[in-house]
Amino acid sequence: MFEVILKKGKEKAVLQRHPWVFSGAIEQVKGKPANGDVVKLLDVQGRFMAWGFYNDQSRVALRLLEWDESVAIDDNWFRQKVGIAVDSRNFVLADGKTNTCRLIFSEADYLPGLIVDKYADYLSVQILTSGIQNNIAVIIDELQRLLQPKGIYDKSDASSRAHEGLETANEVLAGNPPPELVEVMENGITYGINIAEGQKSGFYCDQRDNRMLVANYATGKKVLDCFSYTGGFTLNSLKHGAASVTSVDSSALAIDTLKRNIVLNGLNEAKHHSIQSDVNKQLRRFKDEGETFDIIVLDPPKYAPSRSALDRASRAYKDLNRIAMLLLNKGGLLATYSCSGAMDIDTFKQVLAWAALDAGKQVQFIHQFCQPEDHPVRSSFPEGEYLKGLLCRVI
Ligand code: SAH
Repeated sequence: MFEVILKKGKEKAVLQRHPWVFSGAIEQVKGKPANGDVVKLLDVQGRFMAWGFYNDQSRVALRLLEWDESVAIDDNWFRQKVGIAVDSRNFVLADGKTNTCRLIFSEADYLPGLIVDKYADYLSVQILTSGIQNNIAVIIDELQRLLQPKGIYDKSDASSRAHEGLETANEVLAGNPPPELVEVMENGITYGINIAEGQKSGFYCDQRDNRMLVANYATGKKVLDCFSYTGGFTLNSLKHGAASVTSVDSSALAIDTLKRNIVLNGLNEAKHHSIQSDVNKQLRRFKDEGETFDIIVLDPPKYAPSRSALDRASRAYKDLNRIAMLLLNKGGLLATYSCSGAMDIDTFKQVLAWAALDAGKQVQFIHQFCQPEDHPVRSSFPEGEYLKGLLCRVI
């Protein structure tokens, strides 16, 4: 077992059970552990601190797993962690109206670098650390034992894999390859998910609750769903009796899948209009044309990948929200999100306040959105909180 010595003065975060140790906090690595090996972290006095995955290619050189020296990080440990995580999702799936959710959410479920999403009878897996990669066989075996999926697909195409020295992967890990569209249900609405070609693991199940919350306001309203992807907000709004919904996304595959999803759910195609375009351009086009809406949803991709990008991202969020505010009818609703972990809710409110000032509008925050229970936030790992949103009444 290799040992890693922590620099003096860097103990606090480890003692508080934060799961990351940056390379700059390491005093010494004894021997030559391979990337992905489980190593023992000691303080300078040689006292045990934690067990963790080692990787000298990553800025996060250690990803801590356990703080009890007597616990062995063996196959059984991985099986237990998988079991606890999968079990804790039962309530999300309990009402029979939802058969898709995130089963394992990386650090939040004590498995740093492992994401597992359930799409009905298929699982989509992202392996983002070499430690998880080394132990994937037992993890897959446990998922099969617990859930008997028809197939498990590796969708590890995240850019973060490069930081761990891992190649991207897009292949079947176990069982059958998923069909082109796997049909899943979320809150009683059916979606076709293209696991292999779709974005991320195939679908954004983190917006499950928020799609419903927004749709509650949509009855009889003219809705604009920006960054629609395969139609989460669009389908919920149409189902709740929206007068019309316009969906905008730059991805042709997303728009195509969205249209198929409208048909799958037997929703009224005459009330729907989709536009494949850059949202920023399209919003300016609407403004020039004098088009207005009652409800606008803004669910952009992550604008701030890190804290250093926050200033620039804040300006982009501000500009996007400012234009949307100008397109709302008086008293209209803006449901606006940020999935940038670096942007906290208070900063996001500040950004919206700037946008309102520049747009010459008054804004009331009437609801705060967050990520759902299958994306838990571990108290010792606040970085896991990334999705936030505000429902704004714009006057
Ligand atoms: N609201 C969606 C998820 C949005 S994910 C849902 O409920 O499922 C972000 C989406 O933004 C992706 O579909 C991506 O194709 C799209 N996108 C990214 N940049 C864009 C841009 N500049 N203009 C339009 N769409 C964009």
